[in-house]
Amino acid sequence: MSIQTLSSFVQDSWVPGQGALASLFNPATEEELARTGTGGIDFGAALEYARKSGQALRELTFAERGAALRALSKMLHGHRDELIGLAIQNGGNTRSDAKFDIDGAIATLAHYGDLGAGLGSLRVLRDGDAVQLGRTARYAGIHFWSPREGVAVHINAFNFPAWGMAEKLATALLAGMPVISKPATSSALVAFRAAQLCVEAKALPPGTLSFLCGSSGDLLDRLNPNDVVAFTGGAQTAEKLRGQLAPRGVRLNVEADSLNSALLGPDVEPGSPSWDIFVADVARDITQKAGQKCTATRRIFVPQERISAVQEALIERLSTVKVGDPAVAEVTMGPLATRDQLRDIKAGLARLRAEATSVFGGEGTVVPLSADPSKGFFIGPTLLLCSSPHAAVALHRDEVFGPAATLCPLQPGSASEQAREAALLIKRGGGSLVCSVFSDDRAFLSEAVLGLASAHGRVYLGSEKVAGQTFGPGTVLPQLVHGGPGHAGGGEELGGLRGMAFYSQRTALQGDRALLDAIVPAAAPAAAPTI
Ligand code: NAP
Repeated sequence: MSIQTLSSFVQDSWVPGQGALASLFNPATEEELARTGTGGIDFGAALEYARKSGQALRELTFAERGAALRALSKMLHGHRDELIGLAIQNGGNTRSDAKFDIDGAIATLAHYGDLGAGLGSLRVLRDGDAVQLGRTARYAGIHFWSPREGVAVHINAFNFPAWGMAEKLATALLAGMPVISKPATSSALVAFRAAQLCVEAKALPPGTLSFLCGSSGDLLDRLNPNDVVAFTGGAQTAEKLRGQLAPRGVRLNVEADSLNSALLGPDVEPGSPSWDIFVADVARDITQKAGQKCTATRRIFVPQERISAVQEALIERLSTVKVGDPAVAEVTMGPLATRDQLRDIKAGLARLRAEATSVFGGEGTVVPLSADPSKGFFIGPTLLLCSSPHAAVALHRDEVFGPAATLCPLQPGSASEQAREAALLIKRGGGSLVCSVFSDDRAFLSEAVLGLASAHGRVYLGSEKVAGQTFGPGTVLPQLVHGGPGHAGGGEELGGLRGMAFYSQRTALQGDRALLDAIVPAAAPAAAPTI
């Protein structure tokens, strides 16, 4: 059987991979699925073409840009099953994991489509209210956001080939910037097909969407201060990009590693609704997408007196996980995405075991279901217990990007003391994407939230009141910001219209108030932006 060669889409043409090609595999069987590469692409010409296309995008109203995003969402939805199939093949995703990625992409594009519709005929966005600057109200000042006149380069991680691409595309295109999107090569099959579908939808002005399937070549060295780069991936790559882009004055948003935590309040009794949400959320985060989620819970903080009950409840859940070929319906957790991930996770687990004990899953060794045990990048779920989290180092430093999490006891004390101790330990992670807190005690929650906020992009409160309504802390919603300080990269994406700020220039405008209102009309109150 001949192996498919994937193409890139530049200057409105599909260019098949040339030169040295990288291989894409099925991580359950190690079968080669496709090859790709960007050899032969003239990155300078591709960039110039994309930059020029921005004019047509900027001339569209927000409603027109939103309609284009809605059309992309509809196109992907129409090919949902095909995309799910590709994610199972190339990403090691179970059907449920694949739906999480694909449906996330479809929903995020639709959400930004609706935001565009709400802004109607506007092309630029007011920021806040007008302020009086002179003796009378006639002399005033406003702020507004307009699209940057460059290209938005998007570099995505392997774990969410559809959603990662769509969430960046949606925000940039609604803001009015053309995009060059690059998926991680190892899992690019889904992104490649999604890009083909977006092109086939013919919804966007020509040139405003380019797609690089393989290395970014010398593209980044050609960027200028009008361009921006939104990156999702590992901290080491982020460090390289910072060094490469800062001297060129290129704006960079980084979404990187994160040591997310879950915190159980001392008021939560085993078997209560809040307890059940906690156990379900933590167990889901360990196993969903084989733990390859940037938002997955890695550290679990629990009052000392609840440790054995939590351990027992989590082990009961983890014992039901069926690791194997994700193409088989009864399998609930697939393999890791690549051989390198398997190697890195085993090494990370060994570092954790130097300061914690494995209470479930040992070293992660597993006999996969319906799969050749000599092939594939399989690892079993692992739960560790670290009895001295204050003394631990790797626990708070190393993101083990797989199906593993570590339980940590909080010392006996009042609810307030435990909230403060937890915040101290959690902040040893150096800044994270999300922390989930499970409690029905308002005073405890308030102390925990205010203690955690500065080190987190998002705090999720799980309690009886929201039972049955939440998607869990691991789900990134387009309405809320995604990103985290420090270790997590310091970036911020999404958050409704807030995400557009990265792709825009904020300008202060002062003069006659009537003139300001005519040049930059305010949005209807219902759609008034907060960015
Ligand atoms: P990675 O190895 O850093 O790769 C990420 C992306 O960067 C890929 O598209 C990769 O392309 C590209 N890349 C690598 N070196 C580059 C360079 N010198 N210049 C330009 N592009 C370069 O990360 P990964 O293994 O795909 O993803 C795993 C990591 O991502 C985890 O640490 C996870 O926490 C993080 N992540 C974070 C978030 C978040 O939102 N914070 C979300 C998902 C994942 P190639 O594949 O072609 O090498």
